[in-house]
Amino acid sequence: MIVASKQCSGCYACVSACPQSCIKMKIDNEGFWYPEVLSDSCIDCGVCERVCPTKHKQAQISEPAAFAVLNKDENVRSRSSSGGVFTVLAEHIIESGGVVFGAGFDEGFNVVHSFAEQKSDIRQFRGSKYVQSRIGQSYIKARQFLKSGRPVLFSGTPCQIAGLKSYLGHEYDNLFTVDLICHGVPSPKAWNKYLKHNEQRAGAPVADVNFRSKQQGWKKFEMALSFGNKMVYNKTLDKDEYLRAFLQNVTLRPSCYECNFKTLGRASDLTLADFWGVDTVMPELADDKGVSLVLVHSDKGKNLLDSISDKIVWQQADLKKAIAFNSAAVKPVEKHSARDLFFKDLDNMPFDALVNKYCRIRFKTRVRRVYRSVGSKAKRLIAKI
Ligand SMILES: Cc1cc2nc3c(=O)[nH]c(=O)nc-3n(C[C@H](O)[C@H](O)[C@H](O)COP(=O)(O)OP(=O)(O)OC[C@H]3O[C@@H](n4cnc5c(N)ncnc54)[C@H](O)[C@@H]3O)c2cc1C
Repeated sequence: MIVASKQCSGCYACVSACPQSCIKMKIDNEGFWYPEVLSDSCIDCGVCERVCPTKHKQAQISEPAAFAVLNKDENVRSRSSSGGVFTVLAEHIIESGGVVFGAGFDEGFNVVHSFAEQKSDIRQFRGSKYVQSRIGQSYIKARQFLKSGRPVLFSGTPCQIAGLKSYLGHEYDNLFTVDLICHGVPSPKAWNKYLKHNEQRAGAPVADVNFRSKQQGWKKFEMALSFGNKMVYNKTLDKDEYLRAFLQNVTLRPSCYECNFKTLGRASDLTLADFWGVDTVMPELADDKGVSLVLVHSDKGKNLLDSISDKIVWQQADLKKAIAFNSAAVKPVEKHSARDLFFKDLDNMPFDALVNKYCRIRFKTRVRRVYRSVGSKAKRLIAKI
């Protein structure tokens, strides 16, 4: 075992670095992958332990600068999760002859990392997919592109960016990294179960997925599915079982509840997020179409943002206020008390019944509670920082 399983983020650094290719990812009962060392071919070189980002705490980097950012292209902003800044960054890198890595869907709507070299291919990465993305060969490919001298933009969760950097082992001037404020990553098995359930209801395979449809506004959190027979499904957080389970912290990977990567100082150049609370902090930008919060951790990140300045509207924000409504910026979410029971039942119950069993609290009651506690937590957080 390279690291205790409840701490392993499944980032793929060890698998990618093993000189003997003797580490394989194995999927557990909850649907998360973990490295397994095939001891017959292992030469005990210790590389897997050296590159594990969980085993080596990151050096604390200084506090980032915070910006509210909007993509001027309204069409792209409407199809992005927050302000659409990711697409502008990605297009800029491709225009400079570079390659962009991000999370998209494969043909079965599993979430996987891959790369794009054409602007038209960036679309697959646009929009948050609230499922753990499988890195596969992406770190290895990224290193090949970096060595060939091409600019590389790599986007992913904070643990994936830490994993990439750890795997690479040294800085590359042509590498630009973008991570997210990350609530946590849900189980691919739970996602598949939810999809199958809805495909059965619709009577056709799913043809498109949008976890953050803005049809009813950015703040609504709406899941939109469309099916091969033209049927459509649109439900907001209070009605959609998948989003409800995600935001009640039932379906997340065990390591997410102990995440070390949720800090203000990050290994990435930029951190992207929803600018929750923008209505209070910068009401002039709050049009309910989505505003990104961008945290800048390095000169490289700041230069990258400067180079897209003609395509965005941006304003510097006070860091404490900018993250006051986004506690996942600095600390892991709390594990749901019935999380382990939920996974025990995952194979035995229909998805909607399962979520209704364990995430039953009436939404209005919950919103009132969360609202009250976010208010007081935000005040405490501001006072602490
Ligand atoms: C699992 C997850 C949890 C998140 N939790 C929070 C949160 O608690 N608070 C918050 O403010 N923001 C959170 N975000 C980020 C937010 O949803 C937006 O992705 C972010 O604001 C960027 O939006 P955008 O409009 O600039 O671009 P978009 O086009 O919406 O962003 C797409 C970017 O997200 C990446 N991405 C999408 N899905 C995944 C995935 N499964 N794994 C890794 N990378 C992915 C893509 O590669 C691309 O870089 C989360 C995102 C994910 C994927």
